[in-house]
Amino acid sequence: RVAYVNGRYVRHAEAGVSIDDRAFLFSDGIYEVIEIYQGALIDERGHLDRLARSARELRLAPPLGEAALRFVMRELVARNRVQFGHVYLQITRGAARREHTFPPAGTPTTLVAFARSHDPDAGEAKARKGVNAITVPDIRWKRPDIKTVSLLPNVLAKQQAKEAGAYEAWLVNADGFVTEGASSNAWIVDKTGALRTHPGDSSILSGITRARILEIARAKGIPVIERAFTVAETHEAAEAFISGATTLVMPIVRLDGRPIGQTSSECAAPGPVSLGLRACFHEFAV
Ligand code: PLP
Repeated sequence: RVAYVNGRYVRHAEAGVSIDDRAFLFSDGIYEVIEIYQGALIDERGHLDRLARSARELRLAPPLGEAALRFVMRELVARNRVQFGHVYLQITRGAARREHTFPPAGTPTTLVAFARSHDPDAGEAKARKGVNAITVPDIRWKRPDIKTVSLLPNVLAKQQAKEAGAYEAWLVNADGFVTEGASSNAWIVDKTGALRTHPGDSSILSGITRARILEIARAKGIPVIERAFTVAETHEAAEAFISGATTLVMPIVRLDGRPIGQTSSECAAPGPVSLGLRACFHEFAV
């Protein structure tokens, strides 16, 4: 496998950055994950716009312009022969003597990117069965709208989910509302058939997949309400699911052990709205 590090294509296993890198020392960096479907980068425009926004918010200057970034990502897809998978791209504030304040002007930022293949059938099989989620307190900082590599609360939440036999952790704020998943946006389908998700404000990472699902739902005539929902409302919902660039639409069939949209605990199963949105995702996202 081949990765890209600061202007060079190198073998993934041998790729590395300095121990003085600001991302290593301070989590001082941003990233994007873009799905590759049939060799194409899905929603590249949205991801590049969000990357530029993250960079502005952290006052980071990307080392490459957008055309060069697009070129690097295509090279990685081609050189690694990825048909189905994702590209990961990270920009950090570069390597400098360890001080909290920004490095001296002119210190180059670091750009690392790599591509990885996955088995598309595994994702489909998982979606047909649905996955479990748990709820945990949302203990993140107040700017989760910036896609930074500072992901410790997300890491801890996801590990807690794994240890509870779940795939995702839903983060619940101090007022009892679900903000989003540890690595996804959170959705319910209420009993009237309307989609509900948290507004795309500064308390969530506003997903590119989320935006695409809103567009699909509107095109299909499904009512959408961008308003936060509680854990209790989820237990009363007809369906629940998560969204993300590599997860796409993944049905949640149990939350904290309780089946969603079912009366019997025997038959927790994905609902038709979630599976329908998943099925037409790539028709829209090209
Ligand atoms: N929320 C969080 C915290 C994430 O890490 C992600 C990334 O997958 C998402 C939401 C979904 O964003 P996107 O659809 O752009 O992948």
